[in-house]
Amino acid sequence: MALAISDQVRALMRPSAAALEPYDPGFSPVEVNLSANENTYGMPPAVRERLNAALAATPLNRYPVPLADALRQRIADWHGVTPAQVCVGNGGDELLFNLFLAFGGPGHVLVNCPPTFSVYGLYAGLVDTPVVDVPRDPVTLRPNMDALVEAARTAHLVILTSPNNPTGDVASRQDVARLCQACPGIVLLDEAYMEFAPDGTTCEDLVNTYPNLAVLHTFSKAFAFAGGRLGYILADPSVVGALAAVRQPYTVDVLVQAAAEVIADSRADFQPTIDCIKAERTRVYQALLGMGGLGVTVWPSCANFLCVRVPDAPRVWATLRDRHSILVRNFSSTPGLGGCLRVTIGKPEENDRVLAALNQILSQSSKEA
Ligand code: PMP
Repeated sequence: MALAISDQVRALMRPSAAALEPYDPGFSPVEVNLSANENTYGMPPAVRERLNAALAATPLNRYPVPLADALRQRIADWHGVTPAQVCVGNGGDELLFNLFLAFGGPGHVLVNCPPTFSVYGLYAGLVDTPVVDVPRDPVTLRPNMDALVEAARTAHLVILTSPNNPTGDVASRQDVARLCQACPGIVLLDEAYMEFAPDGTTCEDLVNTYPNLAVLHTFSKAFAFAGGRLGYILADPSVVGALAAVRQPYTVDVLVQAAAEVIADSRADFQPTIDCIKAERTRVYQALLGMGGLGVTVWPSCANFLCVRVPDAPRVWATLRDRHSILVRNFSSTPGLGGCLRVTIGKPEENDRVLAALNQILSQSSKEA
């Protein structure tokens, strides 16, 4: 049910909060939900069993260790950094919020690269952070790196997303290095979807070269733990200190810490599913390329989703939901993404359903046209 804020209550709110509406992820009950870039394969059963045992053995009467030291140690070993370079959060979203609490605010400019993950602009607004947008190329949807580097020279915070949501492109090592060199503030490289990119695409090791670089990861996508809420940032210990200073101490609860330790230890068990999603991504991409005659444009993607432009996208989106019980994300009113939908790559049978439905809807409308 959508929540409404009365005029009376809105008048009591801080102006930057009063400008907002309660978040609505646009979920509807459907048979095939490919709208939120989740891992629709779920957790491998052997991992789930170990996780259940760990949960059952976790006492609930004590507060959690605030920075989840046992988990931090595992994440540090995994990524070749020290525990002091790791900060955990209640999903990547909370860490993004903390980043704005620590480094944003009035007069602290964010340089953003839209179209990208909408939460950056939302949280910037919430703490009155001025935003300088450096829009992506309208055709390739790739960032304009020269303009971004120029804007970064006076920024307190720059965010680059690799792979980007919803366009799927990745940043090169050289791009990230240039930004870190140019920016006197913090460069946040959001690698939430990096496990789906080709090997060697991550730039996370650059945190050892650039003390102003912070790299965000999450367990929500490749590790099928969106419901659990666990994200982490790799950065210089001092940046981790700044995040730790503003964070609520107990947001990563004991159950999530225990589960995330199991997932970190079991990360190799997720590789077959990740490989399957990557193979399916290629298959779906090729199939959508083949629908060019029906007016479909698709961009290459290194993530677990594809950005697809279709004729009359709002109608296609609604028909997918109402006639085919398939939910994808409608980006057609986002500046720079007119006509675009974002389709999460799911299991082969889910992807088959979305391809067949799109084919049917678009063939029908091209006959009517
Ligand atoms: N970054 C990007 C680019 C995302 O798309 C998302 C989730 N949609 C997140 C961060 C945050 O994910 P979570 O809070 O589930 O960790």
